[in-house]
Amino acid sequence: MAIPKKSDIHHQPSVHAGDAARDLLAKWGFDPANEAILPDRHPQYRECARHGRYPISMVDERDVIRYLSPVCPVCAAEHASRRLMESAAIPSRYIDCGFHNYVVEVPGQQTALDVCRDYADHFEERAQKGSCLILCGNPGTGKNHLASAIAHVVLAKGHSVLQVTAYDIIARIRQTWQRGIGNSTELEVIRGFAEVGLLIIDEVGKTFGSDGERVHLFEVIDHRYRDLKPTLILSNENMEGVEKYLGPAAFDRLCQNGGLLLFDWQSHRRGRGCTSDTALCLRGES
Ligand SMILES: [Zn+2]
Repeated sequence: MAIPKKSDIHHQPSVHAGDAARDLLAKWGFDPANEAILPDRHPQYRECARHGRYPISMVDERDVIRYLSPVCPVCAAEHASRRLMESAAIPSRYIDCGFHNYVVEVPGQQTALDVCRDYADHFEERAQKGSCLILCGNPGTGKNHLASAIAHVVLAKGHSVLQVTAYDIIARIRQTWQRGIGNSTELEVIRGFAEVGLLIIDEVGKTFGSDGERVHLFEVIDHRYRDLKPTLILSNENMEGVEKYLGPAAFDRLCQNGGLLLFDWQSHRRGRGCTSDTALCLRGES
């Protein structure tokens, strides 16, 4: 028996595996030239322009070829997350806002980031207590960014999230007063808002703030309070402005088991320097 040369030994394993597989394919009536179904042709990869190489097949421990989804897994996760954010009615300009791309320039922003990240990370415990969070203060200081970051995490944990403006709530409730528009009663609409895992109410304080508007918002906030459902409030008003707009009863319910974050530095949208380093005003256990 001839002793194989060193160069032959080096090439032998894959050649043997491939040849054996080709022989078997031919024996079973498959096209032996179809190399895509040979184990030695796997794993195979594709290239994502954004995320690089990803496998589309693998060979398991029993030498069986397993085909994977021919879609970049990172792109697929991003797409799923985007769909969830859209279903939560997060405004499209904030959909890609997460904790990872929130820019911290003053200590207040770090506090805001820490509090919001903690709220999202411990959402289950917060939800059990109906713990709320009020993000209020100067426009353009990142309140919506952090609210969207919270929504990303809460949605990924499998909870429902809905973002509405205070005006949406008022208009939706008042719509039920008109005959022939929709079939829901006022109570059904309020219950609908009360059932969401996390309700984000944006633009609190933007409308006139009549007693009627206050009553509608109170009804939703109170329903959620009684059901121990967490609510996130976003407002360009300061703390007194939010309390005045919502009324002391609703404000108390929101603060009772949660916190208020005051965004009192200057807007990054105006490109001005930041002037303040205070941010936190927490009530209750948070
Ligand atoms: Zn990708």
